[in-house]
Amino acid sequence: SIKLSQRVQRIKPSPTLAVTARAASLRAAGQDIIGLGAGEPDFDTPEHIKQAARDAINAGKTKYTAVDGTVELKDAIINKLKRDNGLDYQADQILVSCGGKQSFFNLAQALLDDGDEVIIPAPYWVSYPDMSLLAGGVPVIVQAGQDQAFKITPEQLEAAITEKTKLVVINSPSNPSGKAYTNDELAALGDVLVKHPHILIATDDMYEHILWADEPFSNIVMACPALYDQTIVLNGVSKAYSMTGWRIGYAAGPSELMKAMKKIQSQSTSNPTSISQYAAQAALEGDQSCIGEMLVAFKERHDYVVEQLNQINGVSCIPSDGTFYCFPDFNAILNRMDSIDNDVDLAEYILEKAGVALVPGSAFGLNGHMRISIATSMDNLVNAMDRIAKLLNDN
Ligand code: PLP
Repeated sequence: SIKLSQRVQRIKPSPTLAVTARAASLRAAGQDIIGLGAGEPDFDTPEHIKQAARDAINAGKTKYTAVDGTVELKDAIINKLKRDNGLDYQADQILVSCGGKQSFFNLAQALLDDGDEVIIPAPYWVSYPDMSLLAGGVPVIVQAGQDQAFKITPEQLEAAITEKTKLVVINSPSNPSGKAYTNDELAALGDVLVKHPHILIATDDMYEHILWADEPFSNIVMACPALYDQTIVLNGVSKAYSMTGWRIGYAAGPSELMKAMKKIQSQSTSNPTSISQYAAQAALEGDQSCIGEMLVAFKERHDYVVEQLNQINGVSCIPSDGTFYCFPDFNAILNRMDSIDNDVDLAEYILEKAGVALVPGSAFGLNGHMRISIATSMDNLVNAMDRIAKLLNDN
């Protein structure tokens, strides 16, 4: 047998992709499965973006680009960060990568030495801990339950910081909780972090545009400009423009850090796909109304699903501020069902008995919850809520 590296044995495959794959294989075996595990919008990529890709192919823009992205795309990103976030960056502070995933991967590899601590609020996006582990880092998980709207407090943050802390990750609006920090909440976290200039903050703004909270979007450097030299902004086109398959994400931050991340990328993937870069440029520079259309649909589905979930005996769901996820609490059901011990078993039970695929909360570091993706048709959601209610109300 092959002796695999210690490094790869530290991590596990993405659990969200695993649920999607399991639902697909049951479906292929002829079962009627409704998948609510998806981490991507169910809309097509807008036509003007696809056209920009066709044009790029026709114009022969099919060769290597600069490792860190084309000049034109980097300009579009600089303009976007100014337009939407009021943040100023130069070209040497921007790195375009193969999806938001590679941005965080590059960051972990460029920043972390063995034993360096990474503060990650739970529930978290599944890749933060594993990518940190792969780089030799130590995830320090800070629990933020439903009673605190899945958001950490400044006191929790302060208590988690040690002299080994190298990185703090903030994802707002959050996958999986759907909750967003307010500008004031971010400013209060910022007050803690300005006192620790050796700590870098990664703000993952991937769901920036999928937001219906009362307040407009903010991130920690917008809320606390003094953190500019301490913050890396991570964003991308995957979710806002329904471009998950195109694989374009980007990072903006201190030039020294970006240079190191670029070096890592130069020795792994090199540039992201040239054609996708032209499409991403069209997404950022073109008409933004496509985002609004998706947002209206997500909000309508969200309102329906939250209402239905709260009518199920033993389920409690607080409204999301954005994203296409809800993260209801199923603990009361786990407590009353003798045959089921944890959320993983409950998700399996719901999949087998009701034919609905959900991702258990423990995959995101918070037991007893389920992540429900509303990135599917209203018909599917009505059907799924019906099936779950019938199954669980009887138990
Ligand atoms: N960050 C968050 C919070 C996400 O949910 C995702 C995707 O699921 C990503 C980053 C990465 O997105 P991608 O690599 O598809 O651009």
